Amino acid sequence: MINITEIADMDRRTVLHPFTYLKNYAAGETDPTIVETGKGVRIRDASGREYLDGFAGLYCVNVGYGRTEVAEAIARQAYKLAYYHSYAAHTTEELARLSDRLVRMAPGKMSKVFYGLSGSDANETQAKIVWYYNNLRGKAHKKKIISRERGYHGCSVVSGSMTGLSFYHDHMDLPVSGILRTGVPHFYRGAVPGETEEAFSQRRADELEALILAEGPDTVGAFIAEPVLGTGGITPPPAGYWPKIQAVLKKYDILLIADEVVCGFGRTGATFGSDLYGMNPDLITVAKGLTSAYVPMSAAIVSQKVYEVMEEATSRVGSFSHGYTYSGHPIGAAAANAVLDIVERENLAGQSAIRGAYLMQRLKAEFEQNPIVGEVRGVGMLAAIEFVSDRDTRASFDPGLKVGARISQAARNRNLIARAMPHGDILGFAPPLVMTEAEIDEMVAIARAAVDEVLRELDSQGLVAG
Ligand SMILES: *Cc1c(COP(=O)(O)O)cnc(C)c1O
Repeated sequence: MINITEIADMDRRTVLHPFTYLKNYAAGETDPTIVETGKGVRIRDASGREYLDGFAGLYCVNVGYGRTEVAEAIARQAYKLAYYHSYAAHTTEELARLSDRLVRMAPGKMSKVFYGLSGSDANETQAKIVWYYNNLRGKAHKKKIISRERGYHGCSVVSGSMTGLSFYHDHMDLPVSGILRTGVPHFYRGAVPGETEEAFSQRRADELEALILAEGPDTVGAFIAEPVLGTGGITPPPAGYWPKIQAVLKKYDILLIADEVVCGFGRTGATFGSDLYGMNPDLITVAKGLTSAYVPMSAAIVSQKVYEVMEEATSRVGSFSHGYTYSGHPIGAAAANAVLDIVERENLAGQSAIRGAYLMQRLKAEFEQNPIVGEVRGVGMLAAIEFVSDRDTRASFDPGLKVGARISQAARNRNLIARAMPHGDILGFAPPLVMTEAEIDEMVAIARAAVDEVLRELDSQGLVAG
């Protein structure tokens, strides 16, 4: 047994935690959760309390916790060779095998895989590849990157700038220049009365085209987007969205970067979100599900079309001068291969489609008639409930009421982790893809009790319409 007080004090004094109210934590108003073990869809803290993890960590532990075959693959590689770099054509068996399989698995005509350690750094790499590609093609001005409002692409300087959520920018001098923003394809929030999904998608595509024309097509290098908007609210695209967007990009010779960090490896019920929506990306970013977070690893997958230009330029520009000390780390590669073996052997993409349909059916049954629920949405093992103060007008609650955070906390008090998404009052679910129907029932029942508790509080204060 660890000494909980000692560890908590030590942590409070020395760890700078992401997304934490620093003063409240420092003052002891909030306590750390010391996570000790995990098995399947559950984690256990140092006091022995067990939580059902409805968000798979940060939608990454797709194969579930405690998979010993992954731990063994990591250990085997660590004993054999814990590290060597991949500069100047050094490699390992695990790295070569992983890359071969990713190129075969990925949608479109992919050619090469560049490795990083996080989704953020992989998107940073994508930006550099876009700039490099257009420099090599003699298009020195074709550099701007368009991302979407509420898109999430990471937290580093360029990836954080591509992220279209202002609280990732505030007080940190982001976004940097050269990043443009276009509208989010959230039908429930963005459609005008009477508009069909197809018409709404067309309007978004027309807005994108207008932005490109206003900026000058020869100044726009790439468009980056998640197949299913994730952190910005878990929002699947409306009908017709991806074909219409891709037609615009093609017309102006603009690369499509599919940020598959959440969607990749089965989360949406297809192997990649791009497969589900008929996307044909030029560059693909993967992270989270690649290793199910057993080891940090990300990748930028580069298409034949982009790679050819890079290879052809060798005699003029020399080596490809980009890389991290840990690019292609052999322990990461071994973990990824072991995880992808599970994904394939257990058909987790197919499972995700089946279990996801069940999850959606259960969520709709429990929540669609609830007086504070505006929309229940999702695809595969990604789902969200959006809360509103008035179902007719779709009015949001006063942000000061923190409705989403309170519901998430009420769930947590009942030992369920469901994430209050950072924008709006949205409760997100993205459980491990191995979650069973019985566990889905348990998750939905706890979420129901949590929502009912907060509904009662709001109702007693007269804050619910109708
Ligand atoms: C999480 C995420 C990232 C960033 O990944 P990190 O590993 O946190 O840097 C990028 N894109 C998407 C879509 C993500 O969900």
